Amino acid sequence: MTDCLFCGIVAGDVPAKIVREGARTVAFRDINPQAPTHVLVIPKDHHPTAAALAAADPELLAEVIGEAHRVAEGEGVAGTGYRLVFNTGDQAGQTVHHVHVHVLGGRGLNWPPG
Ligand code: 5GP
Repeated sequence: MTDCLFCGIVAGDVPAKIVREGARTVAFRDINPQAPTHVLVIPKDHHPTAAALAAADPELLAEVIGEAHRVAEGEGVAGTGYRLVFNTGDQAGQTVHHVHVHVLGGRGLNWPPG
C-alpha cells in the first residue's frame, strides 16, 4: 500500500469511478465535483507536479493532455468548451501531490478563477 492517494487508485487499492484507462494513464471522476463534468487524468507513474513530469517524461505529459481531450469528447463537452487545470503548489490549491489535470465542463466557467 502506497501513501500516495492517486498511486492507490492506480493500484486498485482506493476505489474510483474510472472513465478511461490507457497503458500509462487513468482518468476517474473527482470525488467532489465542481462542474457537471469533473474528471481527473493522471499518469500511472508518480510525478509530483506537471513541471516535474514535463522535465522527466514530456511525452507522457502530452499523453495526459491528449487523454484529457478524449475525456471531454466522451463526456460530450468538447464542442461546447471545457477547461483543463493543473493546480501546481500549495498556493494554487494543489492538495494531492501526484500530478493530475482537472477536466471541467458542462456549465459556464468563470474567468478569472478564484
Ligand atoms: P488538487 O486540489 O490537488 O488540484 O485536486 C485534487 C482533487 O482530488 C480534488 O478536486 C479532490 O476533490 C480530489 N480527490 C481527493 N480525494 C479523492 C479521492 O479519494 N477520490 C477521488 N476520485 N478524488 C479525490
